[in-house]
Amino acid sequence: MIGKESSAALGLQTNGTSVVEQLGITRKEIRGDTGSGYRTYNIREEQMSTGRVAFRPDGETGFWFVHRQDLKDALLRRVTGFDGEGEPIQVVYDSHIVEIEPELGILKFADGSSVEADLIIGADGIHSKVRKTVIPSSHPEPSLCGLCVYRFVVPMDVLQDINGQMPNILTLDEGNFVVIIAAGDEGNRNMVIYPCRELQLMNFVCGVPDTSPRVLAQLKSTGSHESLINDMIEEFEGFPGWILRLFSRTTLIEPFPVIDQEPLPTYVKGRTMLIGDAAHAMTPYQAQATNQALEEVEGLNAILADASSRDSIPDLLKIWDSIRRPHASVVQSDSRDSQAKVSTTQSSDKFLGFKPYVPMMEVLARLSTQRAGNVVP
Ligand SMILES: Cc1cc2nc3c(=O)[nH]c(=O)nc-3n(C[C@H](O)[C@H](O)[C@H](O)COP(=O)(O)OP(=O)(O)OC[C@H]3O[C@@H](n4cnc5c(N)ncnc54)[C@H](O)[C@@H]3O)c2cc1C
Repeated sequence: MIGKESSAALGLQTNGTSVVEQLGITRKEIRGDTGSGYRTYNIREEQMSTGRVAFRPDGETGFWFVHRQDLKDALLRRVTGFDGEGEPIQVVYDSHIVEIEPELGILKFADGSSVEADLIIGADGIHSKVRKTVIPSSHPEPSLCGLCVYRFVVPMDVLQDINGQMPNILTLDEGNFVVIIAAGDEGNRNMVIYPCRELQLMNFVCGVPDTSPRVLAQLKSTGSHESLINDMIEEFEGFPGWILRLFSRTTLIEPFPVIDQEPLPTYVKGRTMLIGDAAHAMTPYQAQATNQALEEVEGLNAILADASSRDSIPDLLKIWDSIRRPHASVVQSDSRDSQAKVSTTQSSDKFLGFKPYVPMMEVLARLSTQRAGNVVP
């Protein structure tokens, strides 16, 4: 199901933008902004490091900042539209699944009805119910990683208004950068800021330890917006004053505990598979979770093109799993490392140095060449 999410952007990197473009979605359609790189600062707003991504001959980079609702809307248009081959997908909202038989592809619903599917794709997020039917119950559940992040977006004019002018560290004069402010103290407090939606909005992700009593209380209950703001001002003491003033100009701030999971032993069982956060819950500090989900979509499309019959699906899923899972598991571990200590240097370099993805069929072709004993260039 695709629900409306009111806030927060995400960074698509070369692996994600390659798949998005392959689906016929342009940066313009999703009102994305071209990312130029990153800049890091300490809490006194002194620049500590910077890194740039490569520009393509067409003036684009493979690094986009998008509002996640714009991306969701575009993906939904692709699957429900009448363009392209085959019947449009029918999206059924508000159906409650009570039981899944992963090997048989049977879904049972709360109203007593059931369907027998060729393929079940469990894309039901970090608290996935489908995952419970695919992996052994002994596998560790997703768990807290030590940070709580507050996410919000503000219109650019509010940002200028709060400071009299655009804050220096956020200037867009030299391109659109991810700005990382790290306190560099034991608590790992940090902020990640970048523009989105054709430079109309600035997106903030502000991380604090999830162990402070104030933060724990917020995560357990929904207090008033005002009390949340007051708590945040105290939690981010020492950060630039214009950011603390900005908190009280926001209308919606959502606290999220950062949760990840040990890599799974499999993403597939019978004719059922897991993708996205259901498969590889990871911290957002490599900005890769959605990008990985997009790679999974590319791989699935490629693999299923060879599905000759319903019976062939389980074996094709096993091939997909053998390529996707080892790759996503490494990204999962890297993301955990990056979050453990948000610094003004290391994590950002690694983040931009992320390798471009290789399409599924190309990976399979390379493997088969290797198996045949030939040298792969
Ligand atoms: C602060 C933050 C910043 C991030 N930044 C980035 C970034 O820059 N780049 C990036 O690639 N990723 C980023 N991510 C990660 C990204 O947001 C997630 O990976 C992505 O949203 C996961 O998508 P998903 O579809 O797998 O799961 P979700 O978005 O959680 O969607 C799951 C869907 O399943 C539905 N659902 C759940 N249970 C059921 C059920 N029983 N029956 C029916 N429907 C159900 C839910 O309603 C929901 O619509 C960030 C995450 C956070 C928290």
